[in-house]
Amino acid sequence: MNESRTLTQGKVWAPGRVNLIGDHTDYTGGLVLPMAIDLGTTITWQLTNTPSRFSSDVDDVVVALYDEPQSSHWGRYVHAVAQLLEQRRHKSPQILATISSTLPIGSGLSSSASLEVAIALSLGAHAGTRDEIIALAQLCQQAEHAATGVPCGIMDQLIVLAGQSKHALLIDCSTLEMTPVRIPADVKIVVQFIAPRTLAGSAYADRVAQCARAQEIIGPLRSANTTDLEAIDDPTVKKYALHVITENERVQEFCSAMTDCDFAQAGLIMVDSHNSLRDNFAVSTDQMNAAVLEARAIPGVYGARMTGGGFGGCIVALADPDAKIDGLIVEASNGARLLE
Ligand code: ADP
Ligand code: MG
Repeated sequence: MNESRTLTQGKVWAPGRVNLIGDHTDYTGGLVLPMAIDLGTTITWQLTNTPSRFSSDVDDVVVALYDEPQSSHWGRYVHAVAQLLEQRRHKSPQILATISSTLPIGSGLSSSASLEVAIALSLGAHAGTRDEIIALAQLCQQAEHAATGVPCGIMDQLIVLAGQSKHALLIDCSTLEMTPVRIPADVKIVVQFIAPRTLAGSAYADRVAQCARAQEIIGPLRSANTTDLEAIDDPTVKKYALHVITENERVQEFCSAMTDCDFAQAGLIMVDSHNSLRDNFAVSTDQMNAAVLEARAIPGVYGARMTGGGFGGCIVALADPDAKIDGLIVEASNGARLLE
């Protein structure tokens, strides 16, 4: 992951992501289908003789690398990434860095993973080979755990690093095998921002814990089937496990439908996924449910679902290019990279 740095200044970019299907499956080694998007975080940097400092255009706080870790909310990401790089014997250069973002922040498009990856690249981390990409994604995932206390899975950091233009990525979170799934040109992916996320951290941690409980009873959810659920007495845990088991199946079915350009079928699977996140996994909101219903009623919209951890954030829709649906049309983008 080390890179000897000869440049005196540079620019790195890391995308955000939208998850097309497969939510709350990554932390039990399941399947996800995220897509890196053409909005992201840019960091410009120049070498300095003083300890590294970061500033962000979201506020006028400046974070020095060896300040108190809690110096600002986003400063915790800077500290966490820098400390983990250091623990891996990565000698970071001293830089003055400016962070700017085209992503809506705190809205479910993973501005946090985008930020972590951009910070790591600006500090000289290298992610060229598949092994390097996985190692850096894992480091940034740990940084997110350290900075927020939220025990997130690997999906966000991995897609931010490994995204591919014109494709979503089917990620098997057990093996970290990544398979590109082409987004056909005759559909558009539309993201609608619904509301800032609330209670996201504690509820997320609760779902991670309940899924772990289910796995103590029936083994890995990734290889379980719905018959195995009979062994679970607690009705809430049973429903959560039902979501995960069926969501893994839906990810595979959705990939097949997209590969066959069967958008009507893909849309139906998205709606099934939304309903399971609403009814079984209990992470949707009334506003998101209403937005999904509204989107589905628009001619040319094949399907829609909440996307991301839930409790606010965004919905994502699959639509004909001519469909008159409001929102942000996102294009599948390549993963994080050095720009200069
Ligand atoms: P999401 O990842 O869905 O956007 P999170 O709550 O996980 O939402 O992450 C949002 C947090 O990430 C912000 O509160 C902020 O601390 C940090 N963040 C993301 N992008 C930036 C940025 N460009 N500048 C400063 N902080 C940022
Ligand atoms: Mg995030």
